[in-house]
Amino acid sequence: MNDRRSNIKKRTTFRRTNGASPNARTNKAVAARNPNWTRAFLYALQLDQKRGHDDGALLGGLDGFISRWQVEGKGDKSLGILSRQGLVPANYQMLSVEGRSQWVQLVTEAIHSTTTEPDQNTTKSRKRIAPQKPPAPSGPLDGDEDLTSLRAVSKRMTPLLKKMKIERVKDLVYLFPRRHNIVRTIMEVQPDEEQTLVATVWEARTTRLGRNMRGSEAVVGDPSGNLRIVWFNNQIPARQLKPGNRYIFSGRIAHFRGNLCMESPDFEEIAPATGIDSLAHVGRLFPVYPLTEGLYQANMRRAVREALIRAADEIQETLPSDIRDRQTLLELPRALWQIHYPKTLEHYDTARRRLAFEELFHIQLRVLAYRKSNEIGVPSPDLSAPAGVLRTFLSALPFELTDAQRRVLNEVLKDMSGGGNPMNRLLQGEVGSGKTVVALAALLIATACRYQGAIMVPTEVLAEQHFLTVQRLLESLMWPQTKEHILTIYLGSIPEPINIALLTGSTTASRKSEIQRMLQDGSLDIVIGTHAVIQDGVQIPNLGLAVVDEQHRFGVLQRAELRNRSNQPHILVMSATPIPRTLALTLYGDLDLSTIDALPQGRQPVRTRVVMPGRRPAVYDFIRMQVREGRQAFIIYPLIDESETINARAAISEQKRLSEEVFSDFRIDLLHGRMNMREKQSVMDAFRRGDTDILVSTPVVEVGIDVPNAAVMLIEGADRFGLSQLHQFRGRVGRGSHPSYCILIAETPSQDAKQRMEVMETINDGFELAEEDLRLRGPGDYFGTRQSGLPDLRMARLSDTDLLVLAREEATLLFEHDPQLMAPEHATLRKLLSVPSTSVSGEMA
Ligand code: ADP
Ligand code: MG
Repeated sequence: MNDRRSNIKKRTTFRRTNGASPNARTNKAVAARNPNWTRAFLYALQLDQKRGHDDGALLGGLDGFISRWQVEGKGDKSLGILSRQGLVPANYQMLSVEGRSQWVQLVTEAIHSTTTEPDQNTTKSRKRIAPQKPPAPSGPLDGDEDLTSLRAVSKRMTPLLKKMKIERVKDLVYLFPRRHNIVRTIMEVQPDEEQTLVATVWEARTTRLGRNMRGSEAVVGDPSGNLRIVWFNNQIPARQLKPGNRYIFSGRIAHFRGNLCMESPDFEEIAPATGIDSLAHVGRLFPVYPLTEGLYQANMRRAVREALIRAADEIQETLPSDIRDRQTLLELPRALWQIHYPKTLEHYDTARRRLAFEELFHIQLRVLAYRKSNEIGVPSPDLSAPAGVLRTFLSALPFELTDAQRRVLNEVLKDMSGGGNPMNRLLQGEVGSGKTVVALAALLIATACRYQGAIMVPTEVLAEQHFLTVQRLLESLMWPQTKEHILTIYLGSIPEPINIALLTGSTTASRKSEIQRMLQDGSLDIVIGTHAVIQDGVQIPNLGLAVVDEQHRFGVLQRAELRNRSNQPHILVMSATPIPRTLALTLYGDLDLSTIDALPQGRQPVRTRVVMPGRRPAVYDFIRMQVREGRQAFIIYPLIDESETINARAAISEQKRLSEEVFSDFRIDLLHGRMNMREKQSVMDAFRRGDTDILVSTPVVEVGIDVPNAAVMLIEGADRFGLSQLHQFRGRVGRGSHPSYCILIAETPSQDAKQRMEVMETINDGFELAEEDLRLRGPGDYFGTRQSGLPDLRMARLSDTDLLVLAREEATLLFEHDPQLMAPEHATLRKLLSVPSTSVSGEMA
């Protein structure tokens, strides 16, 4: 950046000393016609804007004009202001078209703010009242600054943005739109949909809407016609909208007394100061951003736009230019502008391609770096199944392994034996397909070979679940005096006991140190716990096999760390989110893949129905009937997310209501995330034993709970959940031999949510569902992939297989030529890979 600055300086001086260049005559001519530099300048800007910012209006370009102005028009008031605001020198020639148009807007505004002529529509009195804008910083930013450097981010917005993990200028630049609206004319607007239009306000006032509701009302127009706008219960727009000014409005179009009418749109004045002028045109695409309660679309747009104006050109490019050339990818600033404000869908696609490539490229680099770090390791332990151990375990199970389980177990055992490269396997299988059993078999083999093993999971509830599952599966091998938190089992064929412990954040300090000690001296064989606890500060000196459940928060980096901490353990990653094979291999380039593709026998598909809220009593009757037949039921309520006002029935109050009013003759219990482990455990135990008929719960039951007698899963506020989450919930029932049911209720689902819920009715297979999920989510679904357990991608889609292959090729090439990334043009990449990035593509890879 410094380089660039000094370049600009150099160039300016150059022009100054070359004042008598061939361009000078033309410029002089302009100046002669317009002795007023400011007016000439504005005229030139206008001309350039009309020409689509080709900088061809003046022979010396705008930069040349400014240079001359600085020499010949020294002391000019406007020039002084522009310099002080950092707007000149401009280096206009180097700017992209978008950048130019932004600059022209900013400069025009800056000049107008200094001239005292009143605007045509402004009355004298208003002029006097209008508050003077405080001078705010407006120079370029490199993206790492916090949000206070932006004029468009108010004090009020900062904490709200923070909730969305937006803390730096760059985060706004990378807040990709959920979708775009086409800016339409009034004549074109479609009823019953959100529409965006640019219009002049003719009239705006407060009004009475209905018996005791006051609101605002406006009449707006564009060359194609006029439109009425109402805001219910909101009198602010009436005060803010100034007749005669132009605004961009986005809102739903409804029918009102026989006419079309826009309801409660957000709006933004079209004023040069915010750079919106050149972007708000009929036919253009206008961004719609994700929001959180209390934030408005218009505010967000303004904030993002300012971030773009000031930082898009400065954010560090990470793609080397030769790669950009080979793959015909846009430069970063251009891509950033175009992803937010594309002129056409085609422009959007080229921008998306560039940003998606970058994400995938970073992932591939991480994968390759990880592989490299693996290659230099010591050989992994030879965990060859001792005869008898497997047989003992399998005959102790209350069931036979399915063919699919057998096949996968063989693949795993083959990987672990022989002592060559460590196993690096992703085990995917539908919810309830019996992955845990396979993992447990592998762990027992490891311990029989005198190595230690670990199961790591993302949450405490899941860790507890696994511990209980293991307890249940090994029941017949259990030593009678086994402790509550350390299970002791005997495998007939080896004399020593095998000890298995649970270790989570709630484990008491004394138990924790006992477990630590036992791990150290080798008397503890298997530890089950959360990633957080096991990876931070627990020594497993003799780790032979690490099983990682639910892979999506466990990336290459974490795996690398496991490897560094002990000697090349084997790693088995389990996931219930199936992704297509080719994709898995490329995305998780370093993992082999096993799939359990069949459910245990006797499982029945769960019947799923979407039910209208009004039919809730019938659903309660149905549950009552099922419970009378001896079955159990779950009722799920969405969490009350602090960042959002959700029209959700809180689990706690609903449990009270249900037990008092609806199911007073049944035993109802409550499970939520704020309970401590002991409470949760006793609730789950009671439910598992059948002491409880109905379990009311927040989404904590999402994973792992396994109660074969549960046959009904009622999900309230089903619109709040993503498809894979709903599928996880549904996987809690249908685990026994009873016909099972999943019922979805939502009060006022959006169109998208309705669609999701209907998909649940027709698709039972998790694999199909995952594909459907991807299809339903548009690009730029910032929060979406996170929920689905897929890698955290913002721009790339999982269907971008071609791009993925290209990214992989380029990454491989780069590593061949510069394995340490030492070349200066790779400095940004090196920096990126050296930190466990949490941005853009960081987390999963
Ligand atoms: P996953 O981890 O894949 O969701 P689990 O390993 O938790 O599945 O198994 C789900 C349930 O199915 C458990 O109750 C488990 O004991 C049971 N189960 C596993 N394998 C079989 C099998 N081959 N036959 C019958 N039940 C099985
Ligand atoms: Mg599981």
